[in-house]
Formats: sequence, C-alpha cells, structure tokens
Amino acid sequence: MDYTSAFSLEGQIAVVTGAASGIGREISKAFLQMGANVVLLDCDEDALAKLSTELASGSADQKVLPISADVTDSTAMALVAEKVENEFGPVSILVNSAGIARLHDALDNSDKAWEDVMRVNLDGTYFASRAFGVAMVHRQRGSIVNLGSMSGTIINRPQHAASYMASKGAVHMLTKALAAEWAPFNVRVNALAPGYVATDMTLKMREQPELFNTWMEMTPMGRCGEPAEIASAALFLASPAASYVTGAILAVDGGYTVW
Ligand code: NAD
Repeated sequence: MDYTSAFSLEGQIAVVTGAASGIGREISKAFLQMGANVVLLDCDEDALAKLSTELASGSADQKVLPISADVTDSTAMALVAEKVENEFGPVSILVNSAGIARLHDALDNSDKAWEDVMRVNLDGTYFASRAFGVAMVHRQRGSIVNLGSMSGTIINRPQHAASYMASKGAVHMLTKALAAEWAPFNVRVNALAPGYVATDMTLKMREQPELFNTWMEMTPMGRCGEPAEIASAALFLASPAASYVTGAILAVDGGYTVW
C-alpha cells in the first residue's frame, strides 16, 4: 500500500452535512486539505456563507459548494443529491454531521422536543444517506461517515437527555444496517462516537461547573476533544486507508467509555 495516497482524498467529491459549525466545519477543512472538493450542506445560511467565503479563498484548484438545506426534509435531500451529482460531479464521500442536542428529564419533555432531536439526528442521517447512497450503490463506490456519539453507547452524567441518547444509539444501528446492506456494492458505512468535544453544541454545558467537572472526572484524559481530533478520525474512515473497515463505531472520546 502507498500510505500517502491511501490517506489522500485527491479529486473526490465529499458532502458534509452540518458543515457550518463545529465538527462538520473542521471535517470540511480537513477534507479540502486532503484534496477533496467539498459540498458544505447546512440549514444555517449565514454561517454557511461565511465558511464558504473563507474556504473558497484558500483553494485555487479545488471547489467548494455551499448548499442551504434541511436534512429532515427528505424531498429536499433527494433534490440536493440530484443537483450535486449533475452540477458538481459524482459524490463518493458523505459525512452526516448535522445534529442537535436537548437536555430534558424524560417525564418533562414535549412530543415536539422529542421529535426535533429524532428528526435531525436519526431521520436526517437516513435521508441524506439514502439520497446520496443511491448513486454510490449504483457506481459501487462510496464511504459514509456518520456522527454517532459515546451517548449511543453509555448514559451521560449528570445531565438528562434521553432523546439524544436514543437518537445516537439508533444512528449506530443504522450505520451497521447500511454497512451490511451496501457492503456488496463497495459502499462502506461507519460511525464516529466522540466524547465531549469543544463546539457550540457543548458550549453552554461546559460553562456549568456541575456538569463540566463531572465530565472531566469521568474522562480518563481529563479534557474535551477538539474538532480537529474528530476530523482526523473522519478522514481515516472516509479515505481508502480504511478500505476494509465497515460497520465500525469508532470511539474518539479520550477514554470515556473504557471506565
Ligand atoms: P454544532 O452545533 O457545532 O454543529 C451542528 C451543525 O448542524 C450546525 O451548523 C447546524 O446548523 C447544523 N444542523 C442542525 N440541524 C440541521 C438540519 N436540520 N439540517 C441541516 N443542518 C443542520 O455541533 P457539533 O458539536 O459540531 O456536532 C456535530 C455532530 O457530532 C452532531 O451529530 C453531534 O450530535 C455529534 N457529536 C457531538 C459531540 C460534541 O461533544 N460536540 C459529541 C458527540 C457527537
């Protein structure tokens, strides 16, 4: 194996959902740096516009395509996939990073709040995978990386967030189901299971010592992860270096799940 090219994404087209912030944003930067053309998909138009200007100015030969879309809209996702394939080219990498988290007690949560989390984290991951997976399966080439979470494996403490944990557990199982179904078509599907990462999603919680101190006590490495530390794992899973990896749930959690 030529290990330099095995980790390269030269010339590939990657779609990153949730690209405008945090982990998705850093993954988009990493993929660009490794030679990919990147479709930045997010529902936050302002953040998307800022990021695409920033990224486009840094890469003369490469293409960045911002697309404002909501991953919970299955019709929109199918149309976006068609548009990207026609106007940008064949997509061989999809990262499902769009996600939301809501803290709530199980006995004190509205139907809507429950559905919002399930819709973005689970339905959105499925809708995007199906929309872009069609052409990947047809061409027999593709790698999908889902953002699961350690919350799909363990129950976070001390905060309560049953909807988030249920959604991420489901993302892990969706990952395995698609991996099995699409393995004969050379489409790999894997998930990352990050621990606590320093992004907007965790910002308000990190500011609360009663949460943050417990988190750090429960993390063997005693610190939060940085988005770049998740992006490098996404790069591995997306790249040809992971050609025999499918259906994996890769923990990137500073050791949280070993205790
Ligand atoms: P973030 O809040 O910084 O970014 C999430 C992005 O998703 C935002 O840009 C937002 O606009 C976008 N988004 C939300 N709903 C959307 C929708 N319906 N359609 C399109 N885009 C939408 O969050 P993050 O920390 O970067 O998290 C990224 C992923 O990683 C999420 O799936 C999250 O659950 C997962 N994760 C995060 C952590 C963490 O500690 N930050 C840990 C484990 C897993």
